[in-house]
Amino acid sequence: MTGELALLGGTPVISEPGPHFSWPPLDDGTDRRVLAQLQRSISIYNRSGVIAELETALEDYFGVRHAVLTSSGTAALHSAYVAAGVGPGDEVIVPAYTFLATVTPLLHLGAIPVLADSDDTGNLSVADVAARITPKTVAIMATHLWGIPADIAGLRALADEHNLLLLEDGSHAHGAAVAGRKVGSVGDIAAFSLNGPKPLSAGEGGFVLTNSDEVYYRILMHGHYNKRCKSEIPPSHPLHRYAVTGMGLKFRIHPLAAVISLGQLERLDSYLIGRAEIAGILGEELADVEGLRTPHVTEETLAAWYGYPIIYSVDELGGLPIEKFFEALQAEGLLDVDRPGSTCPLNLLPLFQDPRPLFPHHPYVGQISYRPGQFPVAERLHANTLKLPVWHRERDISLAQKYAAGFRKVVGFHHELKGQA
Ligand SMILES: *Cc1c(COP(=O)(O)O)cnc(C)c1O
Repeated sequence: MTGELALLGGTPVISEPGPHFSWPPLDDGTDRRVLAQLQRSISIYNRSGVIAELETALEDYFGVRHAVLTSSGTAALHSAYVAAGVGPGDEVIVPAYTFLATVTPLLHLGAIPVLADSDDTGNLSVADVAARITPKTVAIMATHLWGIPADIAGLRALADEHNLLLLEDGSHAHGAAVAGRKVGSVGDIAAFSLNGPKPLSAGEGGFVLTNSDEVYYRILMHGHYNKRCKSEIPPSHPLHRYAVTGMGLKFRIHPLAAVISLGQLERLDSYLIGRAEIAGILGEELADVEGLRTPHVTEETLAAWYGYPIIYSVDELGGLPIEKFFEALQAEGLLDVDRPGSTCPLNLLPLFQDPRPLFPHHPYVGQISYRPGQFPVAERLHANTLKLPVWHRERDISLAQKYAAGFRKVVGFHHELKGQA
């Protein structure tokens, strides 16, 4: 006899073919703007046209003095570290649990990434960061994982107490805020990705935010040589004489990507309101379901919900392995549930276990050798995360409810999967 679970021959909860979530939302308005830009100009060398429009819009949105668009989030992070003055032998405390690009630019600068563990939310543990500060520490980098703000006030206080720079990777968290203060406006420098699935998308792109003129000039020197450096860095400034060459790298965004993102930025707040509503529904529908823990955000927190991480508890479900539970969800038609792959504790990746073959000339490469087991909280969370997309429209509510129903069904019948593992 088979149970009701689709994996055992029952009827799936969702029969619509996937994917059930696509991002970013594009429409005729997007087409028109892209076409108009195509006819206007597809290379912009200075801070003008759509580049100036989007940077100004970002500055207004985040309430910071300077925004610089880049070709990717990875490039934005690279420039942020360079502009922060990070160099060989400097230690930067970074989350163990993040996307690799939060940290990889440090390897190119001869710096030493000091990984720190997560707290229960998955974000950087302020206590663990504090324990890893040494005389060589120059900065703390925080990611706002899945769009849920890290304890940015706690990290700001810690950084100030030790005279360290606070940097933010806001790539999951455009528009997220705590008590009205937006993620990316608290750190000394913040970097964001505008990659395809990110809450604010350009397809490909990124940007850096800062209130410091000096940092702004350094970011321009790093990836925006010639015309832009000439016009933006005052003739009286000592770096102005390097304007033609800068540091010789080119990290500019494509104008067509910028125009896509400008349209998205105009709608970002409405996306976030819709996502908050759907995240609230998921939280209610899955509250008190055995074996599942949903994310908790405080009243004063607005999350960007790049993902909705549900933590699975194998012990509460009679030892049923997460792999089997996941398989059963897929069979129920919950095709957009994800087990995060490359966003993982970095100590699990060969690059952070032994970077020597790829960075033989890094002067401190021997000091970078992480091992599995060193970041128990991050590793436990990552191994047990089932991530949902967060929809944003009124008509997506029923889809979110069906996903929640699928989770409840598999939990309800989990006994039938015993012995199936
Ligand atoms: C996507 C992402 C990046 C890298 O951004 P790209 O635009 O893909 O280069 C960096 N950090 C985090 C946390 C990300 O999610």
